[in-house]
Amino acid sequence: MKRVLLSAAAALALTAAAGVFTFAHAAEAAATTTAAAPDATKAARMGTWGFDLAGMDRAAKPGDDFVRFSTGKYLDQLTIPSDRASWGSFNALAELSNNRTKAIIETAASSAKPTGEAQQIGGLYKSFMDEAAIEKLDAKPLAGDLAAIRAAKTRDAIAELMGASQGRFGGAFFGSYIWQDAKAPTQYAVYTSQAGLGLPDRDYYLDAKFADKKTAYRAYVAKMLTMAGWANPEKAADAILALETEIAQASWTKVEQRDADKTYNPKSFAELETLAPGFPWQAWRKGASLSGTDRIIVGEPSAFTKIAAIYAKTPIETLQAWQAFHTVDQAAPYLSKRFVDANFDFQGKTMSGQPEQRARWKRGTGVVGGALGEAVGKLYVEAYFPAESKAKMEKLVGDLLVAMKGRIEKLDWMSAETKARAQKKLSTFTVKIGYPDKWRDYSALKINPADLYGNVERVNAFNWAYEVNKLGKPVDRGEWGMFPQTVNAYYNPTMNEIVFPAAILQPPFFDPDADPAINYGGIGAVIGHEISHGFDDQGRKYDADGSLTDWWQPQDATKFEGQTKRLGAQYSAFEPLPGIHVNGDLTMGENIGDLGGILVALDAYHLSLGGKPAPVIDGLTGDQRFFLGFAQIWRSKYRDDAVKQQVVSDPHSPAYFRTYGTLQNVDAWYDAWGVKEGDKMYVKPADRVRIW
Ligand SMILES: [Zn+2]
Repeated sequence: MKRVLLSAAAALALTAAAGVFTFAHAAEAAATTTAAAPDATKAARMGTWGFDLAGMDRAAKPGDDFVRFSTGKYLDQLTIPSDRASWGSFNALAELSNNRTKAIIETAASSAKPTGEAQQIGGLYKSFMDEAAIEKLDAKPLAGDLAAIRAAKTRDAIAELMGASQGRFGGAFFGSYIWQDAKAPTQYAVYTSQAGLGLPDRDYYLDAKFADKKTAYRAYVAKMLTMAGWANPEKAADAILALETEIAQASWTKVEQRDADKTYNPKSFAELETLAPGFPWQAWRKGASLSGTDRIIVGEPSAFTKIAAIYAKTPIETLQAWQAFHTVDQAAPYLSKRFVDANFDFQGKTMSGQPEQRARWKRGTGVVGGALGEAVGKLYVEAYFPAESKAKMEKLVGDLLVAMKGRIEKLDWMSAETKARAQKKLSTFTVKIGYPDKWRDYSALKINPADLYGNVERVNAFNWAYEVNKLGKPVDRGEWGMFPQTVNAYYNPTMNEIVFPAAILQPPFFDPDADPAINYGGIGAVIGHEISHGFDDQGRKYDADGSLTDWWQPQDATKFEGQTKRLGAQYSAFEPLPGIHVNGDLTMGENIGDLGGILVALDAYHLSLGGKPAPVIDGLTGDQRFFLGFAQIWRSKYRDDAVKQQVVSDPHSPAYFRTYGTLQNVDAWYDAWGVKEGDKMYVKPADRVRIW
């Protein structure tokens, strides 16, 4: 997988590889300012009781298009900001988080004699913002890394550089990460996975509908090599494209990579050499500082065999050019303007249709928030996360777990044996809310306010050393895979835990003063989604201890799979753009999470009423408001290229279908809105998918 360096998504890149299930497509770290907001660091209330009534399109029929009905007028007036690839509720909240992060960073940067984390935060930001110094250096910071590539004249030397790229700029044919061993979750293990592609997915190399992107990528490769002063850049670009196309052919699809069983293949290094001869594994191991372990879990064995063979026959000069390109590509955001602009022109404009680059300060806050995520997070929590928010959230999660328990009890398709095991798993869920109890120690990380490139490489090296250092030590169950200021949530199957960072606990997800129906439809559906991930098509394979162990009676597994096949077929029929379909298999886990999530959230809402009828507000019943609240969290618009990229590379369905596809399977939604046969979203009761 392509590593994401130094963005707020850095933690995600690691955890997504390890099979952590997140709530949403990693919301971009930086965002636009809203000139209209009197205080850009304050959360805005939606409507008077938590829902934006003015954003509805009451001329639309709820049963024909509930997204249109509940959010149509909002969408009509919504223009995606020119520095974004998509915009909606999620992004607006990410923007709020970013504005707050900016305030935190600027306080640190303006302090006269900063020390400790304030020096690191302020120093890294200063190094990013000092454009004059960066311009003066131009391509010079690359010199050391490019010289090392030129000096690597053997396959062993290049493989060692690939291993070392875990902790610096550069690429690798095989990526690795440290995570709990899925079959022995009290220990850490090294995982390794197919890599080597510069485009977001193998489809971009192999599918004719992405031919224009592939052509643009070739030109980008040549341009970056030219700017870096690499010899014969045009010829090298052709060779790199041919090489990556071969790797794409050898690679597993993203659907195949989702399979927790097929991607668990522990090997010794000797076994790895037998599986994938032709790649110098010992040199790679040395570069990655993995000499302390002889056990490595291989993700895609058949692809490893093929990619190692490709490595063995590729000319050294092509491998060197490939490494040089990936080094420049990753380093470009931290170099002079011509590198930054060329990088944005391809990665932003061409790949996701974003017309303009984000302002430098926005990118800078993203870099600092990603590199020193918990140092910034500590200050974020002090300023913006009151203790009562945590207490309210604990209560809500408790309610949702009780509701899920009730749903499992009542399932008509599951045997008593499997139910008992499911209940045991549910009862051992760990819940993390807001921020970690123990913060990460960054004191050994050296930040120099006059050396951006060096700072970023030191951050990468610091992070990789931190990961490798875990090997052989007890698992730290208090560790977080996201930062408090991140607008997202996740389920981690090997810890059997659900995690909700502080930044998602705001409107439209959660507002302590909103009508409860809105909170249950918002953050309730998020909590339910994460709980349901423990029981989705992959999450269900892990037991109460977080071990990849089959605890299902075979007949129950067969029934479960029958339902999931039908859910997959529903989503694969969705067509966000003409000829562009959602991939029901790639998005399976997320769609199961959405469906389970809304059902358990609705049950929890009903339980919270304590037997009394819900009040009617503005002519809307409690259940109606619940579904409106759910639709409100997903209202958004995407640029076409961003949708195309999402459907091939992201396990989350596009936002529109997270509302549409979920609700058409929910009986209570039909009842709440009087949806009847003949309405466009109508699905016959017998054809509705029922899982949790
Ligand atoms: Zn999810």
